[in-house]
Amino acid sequence: MILLLMMVLGQDPEQALASYAEAREKFVQEADLAAELQRIVAEAEDAISTEGLRRRRREKRHAQASVVSYRVLESRRDGDTATLVVEEQLKAPDGARRKKLAFAKAGNRWLIAREFDGCPACQAKGTCTWCDGRGEANRKPCPRCKGKKRCDTCDGAQWIERSFAHGITPLAARRDFAPRTDTSSARATAEAFADALTAEQIRLSAAMRRFFESSLALLKAHFTEDVAREAQEALRKAVEDGAKALQAYVPSVDVKTDGDRATAIVSAPPGPLGNERRQIALRKTDGRWLVDEVKRECGWCRGRGVCAACQGKAGKLTCLYCNNSGRCEPCEGAGFTD
Ligand SMILES: [Zn+2]
Ligand SMILES: [Zn+2]
Ligand SMILES: [Zn+2]
Ligand SMILES: [Zn+2]
Repeated sequence: MILLLMMVLGQDPEQALASYAEAREKFVQEADLAAELQRIVAEAEDAISTEGLRRRRREKRHAQASVVSYRVLESRRDGDTATLVVEEQLKAPDGARRKKLAFAKAGNRWLIAREFDGCPACQAKGTCTWCDGRGEANRKPCPRCKGKKRCDTCDGAQWIERSFAHGITPLAARRDFAPRTDTSSARATAEAFADALTAEQIRLSAAMRRFFESSLALLKAHFTEDVAREAQEALRKAVEDGAKALQAYVPSVDVKTDGDRATAIVSAPPGPLGNERRQIALRKTDGRWLVDEVKRECGWCRGRGVCAACQGKAGKLTCLYCNNSGRCEPCEGAGFTD
């Protein structure tokens, strides 16, 4: 009976997609990776944070995006291969997104051979978002596409292939790590925070590894053998790279104290686990120094606060990003954001 049902589910591309979509949604809801990652961060950092920061952290938690429905926009079939273009309707705030799936027939089942996301930069139009595909701006070649008229994220292809290997980062596996918990000085707490980041890396990696291992099982059931084999290899490599990377992951700390307040920059070292910096504000409360605010380095200006497009040196030309203020727009020149 079960065997018969599986054959029916995969007997044409649309049914193969329906059975995959259902299994994937169930998996995403059960794994609830976003909630687990948020829980890990809270557990690592709450002990050295003020009540206010702990509350703000709880309020920021958001639910896993989930696909509410999808509809098929395009369906093409050519012998033993087929292509479907679908629009997925997601729960707010993500709205709708387009996807393209290529299928291959294996025996009497249809399996997914490739999966593409509509380019998020150009909304799958393929045209330059700066000049809207005209190739020029202010009667000069468009500075973004250099007159080529194509979107520079997808190079005009409209679609970006989704791959297990692209989504996977090195996964650390070291477990014997005890973070320092001393909060008697601003420096001690900043160092405890640096240790909390390392503890987070270890636990986040373990959670991600479990997640990827389960998604591999999902992949094996609905995708072609080639895709599953590549994914398995990507996972093996991520685990191998992660073990090395975590040995070198020791964030450094730079503290400035001013009375009962202090700020610190906590910098993770360069490497595959990400060399992001964090700016933390500390406050002395009942004899303990506690973390009251955590900001991440702005990804555009890398913490410098200077416009990444013109480096503050637009001169007589007009910088369309900062309007010649020289200030990084996304972080408003602060270098670090919530
Ligand atoms: Zn352009
Ligand atoms: Zn694009
Ligand atoms: Zn910035
Ligand atoms: Zn600028």
